[in-house]
Amino acid sequence: MKKIGILGSTGSIGTQTLEIVRAYSEDLTVTVLAAGTNVKLMEAQMREFKPEVVVMWSKEAAEDLRVKTADLKIPVLCGMEGLLEVSVWENMDVLVTALVGMIGIRPTIAAMKAGKNIALANKETLVTAGHIIMPLAKEYGVSILPVDSEHSAIFQSMQGEKRSQVSKILLTASGGPFRGRKLEEIRTMQVEDALKHPNWSMGRKITIDSATLVNKGLEVIEAKWLFDVSLDQIQVVVHPQSIIHSMVEYVDGGIMAQLGTPDMKLPIQYALFYPDRRPLTGKRVNFYELGQMTFEAPDMETFRGLKLAYESARIGGSMPTVFNAANEKAVALFLDKKISFLQITELIEECMQQHEVISTPSVEEILETEQAAYAYINKKLK
Ligand code: NDP
Repeated sequence: MKKIGILGSTGSIGTQTLEIVRAYSEDLTVTVLAAGTNVKLMEAQMREFKPEVVVMWSKEAAEDLRVKTADLKIPVLCGMEGLLEVSVWENMDVLVTALVGMIGIRPTIAAMKAGKNIALANKETLVTAGHIIMPLAKEYGVSILPVDSEHSAIFQSMQGEKRSQVSKILLTASGGPFRGRKLEEIRTMQVEDALKHPNWSMGRKITIDSATLVNKGLEVIEAKWLFDVSLDQIQVVVHPQSIIHSMVEYVDGGIMAQLGTPDMKLPIQYALFYPDRRPLTGKRVNFYELGQMTFEAPDMETFRGLKLAYESARIGGSMPTVFNAANEKAVALFLDKKISFLQITELIEECMQQHEVISTPSVEEILETEQAAYAYINKKLK
């Protein structure tokens, strides 16, 4: 029986992970659950999955949940202290990091130091602290199994191959809801327009990130760390049908790809059962119906998110943290209808321009850099 912990169990990745646990209850069990504020769903998850411990980020939510689930006798912790405590939970083999944002860094590090394998969805952790996380994985002998569909596809396309013979990673992108639009057209786009992803159903923040191509930028940086390749070896290919989830080109020109319908359950399940594959119900690719697959270059001038991501990664050090933190803040403001769609990337660029780079930031410096980016945006928009 594999014992699973999920940080972010009430979110898009978290609930899909629980669907897999439900389907394979003879092999998987949940011992740890954590979320932010969603008491109602957490209560339902506690009653169904009977974890050994849970965490709510907010103190009020934790208190509310304690009252509502008093009959279950499951401890309810809160805040970063709670997250750190459950990340090293003894009765847990794999930690699924499905939180949004840089809040995931410290729990991920704690879990790795306690020898837990990580099923990593929380890309912000690698983007900002890849230089800390990857060496730690080696030092403590733990696996980081990618949950992001593109990175899972790359990982799957590398099975049985030699990493030294990889020449290029071809990271596919749907292009988001505004693909093909010009700057003037996207200037007036509203939250509702940006939340309409053509192929994937995801959390709100990542859906906006897909519209700006910031998500693809974060994935480029994530891939660089996960697969130990240079930025020049990562090429983004827009593939609007989202059937090829990414590809790997080898030194002889041969290309391995992973294909499937857009369903996050496949990469989550692959990470949980790796190296096994298990049956998964759902739609299959029908090539007769599909007819054709198309490919194009990303428009990095209109969607500056990707360009800025490459720039931040080339500069390195604390700059990807600024890129990520400024984006987190800007997306939250956009979702609150306080700024326009194009202001998201404008704010990221401005934050990057005024930042003084720290070449190898510690976790504390990463978190300080995050706060500084938030403060800069707050001050600017006051
Ligand atoms: P959601 O917004 O759907 O869910 C986020 C989860 O994190 C919720 O359970 C939320 O709890 C919880 N959470 C938020 N803040 C805190 C906190 N401070 N402490 C504890 N829990 C917290 O996000 P997604 O599932 O879409 O994304 C999760 C991560 O996975 C992101 O890093 C994203 O980039 C990545 N990812 C997502 C994909 C997808 O298809 N959704 C694909 C690939 C990667 P609550 O509900 O209570 O607020």
